[in-house]
Amino acid sequence: MVTEFVNQNGSIRFRNITKKYGDLTVVDSIDLDIKPGEFFSLLGPSGSGKTTTLMMLAGFAVPDSGQILLDDRDISRLSPQERNLGMVFQNYALFPHMSVLDNVMFPLKVRKYSNKECMARALWAIDLVRLSTFAKRLPKELSGGQQQRVALARAIVFHPEVVLMDEPLGALDKNLRYQMQMEIKELQRKLNMTVVFVTHDQEEAMNMSDRIAIMNNGKIEQLGSPKEVYESPRNVFAAGFLGEANILPYEDLDPDYRRYMSMQPQNCLFVRPERVSLTRASAEEAVDKTRLTGEVLNVSFLGNIVRYQVRINESVKVYADATNLSDMQVFAGGDRVAVGWKQAGDIRIIRHE
Ligand code: ADP
Ligand code: MG
Repeated sequence: MVTEFVNQNGSIRFRNITKKYGDLTVVDSIDLDIKPGEFFSLLGPSGSGKTTTLMMLAGFAVPDSGQILLDDRDISRLSPQERNLGMVFQNYALFPHMSVLDNVMFPLKVRKYSNKECMARALWAIDLVRLSTFAKRLPKELSGGQQQRVALARAIVFHPEVVLMDEPLGALDKNLRYQMQMEIKELQRKLNMTVVFVTHDQEEAMNMSDRIAIMNNGKIEQLGSPKEVYESPRNVFAAGFLGEANILPYEDLDPDYRRYMSMQPQNCLFVRPERVSLTRASAEEAVDKTRLTGEVLNVSFLGNIVRYQVRINESVKVYADATNLSDMQVFAGGDRVAVGWKQAGDIRIIRHE
């Protein structure tokens, strides 16, 4: 029997890492500090440099400058094998002619474990991902979710301190995706591994991560816990990328209102739709320059919430999400409404960069 293994190590540090392809700087002077046992996500749009960052950590790409440290050891110039990190690829990269068991035993054979040890450890990993009854099957005889779990078992079977995952759930449908998110989290906690996870899916990143780095154009725009990044985005990019956001540019707001809000050019107002509250606008409110008023343009019934779209002026529309409670106040298209916030801190001024 294999005793459960708990990692104490697995800290990762990027020091001023840059990677260029020709003239294009795809990763631009990145500094990162990932803690042992942390679930850390790189989140960003396609082409922002997430995979390149992960590949440099894995050893499949070489940085042009900077250092990568694993537990204070410089690994930047080591081969992938020497780094000993677990890796899950988006397309799973399973060996098609090998059974589940042989796929999972592979990393152990490469590492020259005895046959007995290979078998014991592989069965342990297969059991962890709940595939014991499928050990003899070939990958093509498994569902997408099951193949994904084989890839997971193969990544953890040699007890790496760090597991890297590049959009591992991208091919799964929404429900299965959510279920796998929970399974990966549970496994990560149980084995106390550091996980560096790449995704372009904001909900996935929020659901899974201790901390998220939002990437754009090879740079980290913001780094923090899901709650920090969601509630206090540093700039317009971070605000717009993570979750739904109302972003109201300076130029599009009434001068009196801008003055009242102490806005400067280059500023935007930022408020999440769920923090916006609507009230029926009276005639006085329509001329009150310290309030935004408008007309309900559209009402979307989304089940758990009702989403209102309110037209403030030609350029500015505000979304307001109301929880679908039995006693909620309901508005209809054409209604005049005043737009407010649940608390003063719900609306923030952010920079347009
Ligand atoms: P992401 O994973 O965030 O979608 P990537 O790291 O894959 O982004 O790519 C970042 C940028 O680097 C993209 O513009 C991509 O075209 C470019 N790139 C990635 N790999 C290579 C390569 N091997 N050669 C040239 N350009 C590359
Ligand atoms: Mg990628």
